[in-house]
Amino acid sequence: MLGAAFGWWFSTQFLPPSQSGLAWALACALLSSYAWHVLDVALAMRLLHWLNFGDISRTRVGVGLWGDISDRVRRLMRSQDRAVAQRDDRFQDFLAAMQASPNGVVLLDEDLRIEWCNQSAQSHFGLDVSRDLLQHFGNLVRDPGFGAYLAAGDFERDVLMPGRRSTLAKPVRLSVHMHPYGDGRTLLLSRDVTAVEQAEAMRRDFVANVSHEIRTPLTVLSGFIETLQSLNLSDSERVQYLQLMAQQADRMQSLVSDLLTLSRLEGSPLPSAQEWVPMGPIFDQCRQEVTELSRVLWGQPQGLEFDIESGICVAGSAVELHSAMLNLIGNAVRYTPEGKNIYVHWRAQGDGSAVFEVRDEGVGIAAEHIPRLTERFYRVDRSRSRDTGGTGLGLAIVKHVTQRHGAELSIVSTPGEGSTFKVHFGQARVKIPSEPTCAA
Ligand code: ADP
Repeated sequence: MLGAAFGWWFSTQFLPPSQSGLAWALACALLSSYAWHVLDVALAMRLLHWLNFGDISRTRVGVGLWGDISDRVRRLMRSQDRAVAQRDDRFQDFLAAMQASPNGVVLLDEDLRIEWCNQSAQSHFGLDVSRDLLQHFGNLVRDPGFGAYLAAGDFERDVLMPGRRSTLAKPVRLSVHMHPYGDGRTLLLSRDVTAVEQAEAMRRDFVANVSHEIRTPLTVLSGFIETLQSLNLSDSERVQYLQLMAQQADRMQSLVSDLLTLSRLEGSPLPSAQEWVPMGPIFDQCRQEVTELSRVLWGQPQGLEFDIESGICVAGSAVELHSAMLNLIGNAVRYTPEGKNIYVHWRAQGDGSAVFEVRDEGVGIAAEHIPRLTERFYRVDRSRSRDTGGTGLGLAIVKHVTQRHGAELSIVSTPGEGSTFKVHFGQARVKIPSEPTCAA
């Protein structure tokens, strides 16, 4: 319009009347429209170039409508870039979380080839991402149980298999579960269940042991009851039978009492570090009890020598400390034949700690048994333990009590010569006589 107006005006002002004003108006309109179009194309090309190669952080490109378009595009691209960066951050966080997982995670494609795995999976299966990516998982993990699991394709359940680092001495058990997802892909999860399996095996052994320990005296008792009911026994026989029955009942009682002690030790909070227990009275009580035990077992007291430094206190539980000391001295009495000696020492050390020691001249223990003595129901000589009223739980109780008091138990023994059991209490839990008071 402007071009046409200009052409008309120009022809009327500067040209002779013979020249058509309409023609000039048309020509100028066409010319200006063409120039406008060229400018548009130039601006559009500049915008295109900027979109393809430009730096979108730059301010607007072009003028007018094209400038507005470039602004709008720039804003859109910026917000898109931000969204992509956020998604990337979230993805990296997600991968980091998967890496931190103690469980193994493997992503498999439709052909069960490894697309991604975390570090736990690498250690569980001995994988190396730089080498094993896109390898078929079944070719790398060749356990027969896992092979059968893969072949069966029943992924409702998990499968147990040995870990890559499993050895006879240090077995590692894995629970592996595959979860199909998406378009034919599979998520494989692995979990180290070694500790769980060991705990379960221990629990089974424990129940079997307890049942066995209780069944034996129960069988004997019911045998005696049947005899008393069915046979016409003389008075002296009856007394003898009742004595034997009482022995079996005592045995069951000791077993139940030791089991309760153990469960209390496992289930209760650590003994107080502020409650000071004078050890003298505890050893006096132990001396009386083991002297009686020695008389019952061997007919006459053994050579029992107590050398106790008075006044030392230990921070903790008097009941637990008594139980541990009595078990250790009691064992010395039970595994030392008559005529031999037992020495009990309790001394403060120069560094403020204190050591309890019981040394006997008894049967001794072969070296291979020593590491296992504190296991529940572990016995070197089953019949000797039973004959002397043992439950097989004494040293397990001692181990718990010493651990709960921050003390250390050590055992040295020579078969045929005797054994020494020592408990070393650290200075943090010991008060020695020179200190003001340790009244409980
Ligand atoms: P038990 O009730 O059978 O004595 P413990 O847990 O107290 O159970 O001891 C475990 C085993 O350690 C005993 O069965 C015994 O074989 C051995 N033992 C413990 N103390 C002594 C000792 N002083 N001398 C020889 N053997 C011992």
